[in-house]
Amino acid sequence: MIKTPREFLNQLATVLSAEQLELRVEVLLENSRDFGQLVGEPIMPLAVVYPGTVDDVQNIMRLAYEHHMPVISRGAGTGVSGGVHVTGECIVLNLMRMNRILEVRPDDEVAVVEPGVINYDLNLAVADHGLMYAPDPASYKMSTIGGNIATNAGGLRCAKYGVTRESVLAVDVVLSDGRLIHVGRNTFKGVAGYDLTAMFTGSEGTLGVIVRAVVRLRYLPVDERDISMLFPSLEAAVLGVQRIARVRVQPAILELLDSPTIRILDEQYATNYAVHGGAMLLVRLDGYGSEKEESVLRETFANQEVILSASGAGDATALIEMRRTSRGDTKDDAYRMGEDVAVPKSKMTGYVRELREIAYQHNVDVRVIAHAGDGNLHPTFSVEPGSGIDPLARLSKALEGSIRLAIEMGGTITGEHGVGLIKREWLGWEQAPDVLSLQREIKALFDPKNILNPGKAF
Ligand SMILES: Cc1cc2nc3c(=O)[nH]c(=O)nc-3n(C[C@H](O)[C@H](O)[C@H](O)COP(=O)(O)OP(=O)(O)OC[C@H]3O[C@@H](n4cnc5c(N)ncnc54)[C@H](O)[C@@H]3O)c2cc1C
Repeated sequence: MIKTPREFLNQLATVLSAEQLELRVEVLLENSRDFGQLVGEPIMPLAVVYPGTVDDVQNIMRLAYEHHMPVISRGAGTGVSGGVHVTGECIVLNLMRMNRILEVRPDDEVAVVEPGVINYDLNLAVADHGLMYAPDPASYKMSTIGGNIATNAGGLRCAKYGVTRESVLAVDVVLSDGRLIHVGRNTFKGVAGYDLTAMFTGSEGTLGVIVRAVVRLRYLPVDERDISMLFPSLEAAVLGVQRIARVRVQPAILELLDSPTIRILDEQYATNYAVHGGAMLLVRLDGYGSEKEESVLRETFANQEVILSASGAGDATALIEMRRTSRGDTKDDAYRMGEDVAVPKSKMTGYVRELREIAYQHNVDVRVIAHAGDGNLHPTFSVEPGSGIDPLARLSKALEGSIRLAIEMGGTITGEHGVGLIKREWLGWEQAPDVLSLQREIKALFDPKNILNPGKAF
């Protein structure tokens, strides 16, 4: 048994090369948190380790297990729920250097990848085969497939192609004691045994380290038609989502932006959409049927107070790319908090109406974007430091109110970002004590010493 952190680091140095073991303060700091809200000063890990192979990960985990040393698996650190926030003595296992695409099997429509592959890079690599990896969180140019799997990430194209879970067929996982297991299959179908692949998907680094994944690819659409739709108000845009569903058009992307968000994009990109409408829907139709779907949509919204972009004009496509940056590249802080709830689609109109009432009551600002095709809303609440009485308490009450409202409407506290550190306090609002304790038992089975991202997800 190793006694001190120093001895532990010395042991690590025997299984890793010098470039794989980082102790420099700036690197520790960079790896101490994600984009999620951090209250107080960042806490630094003892070290950041960069495995290059599965063997490296196993060696690191064996040592960590022996020493009871907490390990935070980390991809690109773009999470927004504090999932990689450091909360105590630990090492950060940064998987960014395990970034090889090991295989693309076009006829099987699968790829085999290491966890540090960037989502965008995988898409580039398979495009030549007429294929794509569908789940595309707005962070797709930065975030990793390993991080996407560990958070069961959503994204824009999920409206049609489903979330990450629908695209993961198998994973190799290093367990807390260093054992390597393979779960899942190479085929789209397969029902042998419990679905452990699904269990690791969304496990937020608390059950094992994902070191390899077999992912399902989809056909790159033969045609894509993008339409922007400007509505007079947020409520009208949400009703627009329902109208699209009722005429049975299935967009690949269906995003909603309210007017404060449009104003931010206008400032960022020197455009002037905000003067034309109070909220926007961005629609992508894809595949062989997209021409027909486009004509149905244009008919549905003709003679209404909706401004549609011209057919084939590039501005709607540009707007979809702009939407991906609408969260901004700043991290949440004490005075700004991005939210992530989901409600049944029929409840979205009521939700946005009451959301603004909550913001008004607590005198905080709110702006809303949504993966509207999935009922997944991202309100961002903010207050000016020093404004009115106790701005932080007001912000926190507004947040709580928005989450309670989602649950009351039959929704969830997190649609795609995960519980991480930040949402733990609300998990009990959604899940019954028996369900929570069963999950704790699963965690204890996989991680008896509680060293895998302890204190996260529960
Ligand atoms: C601008 C912006 C836009 C975003 N848009 C979306 C969006 O549209 N949809 C969405 O779902 N999310 C979105 N996110 C959140 C974030 O990008 C996703 O959660 C993403 O999946 C995180 O990937 P990552 O590589 O950055 O993982 P990290 O943030 O590094 O880690 C996330 C979690 O996964 C665990 N983890 C990482 N790698 C592994 C591994 N190999 N094995 C085990 N556990 C691991 C970590 O411990 C942590 O709990 C956005 C974030 C930003 C900043």
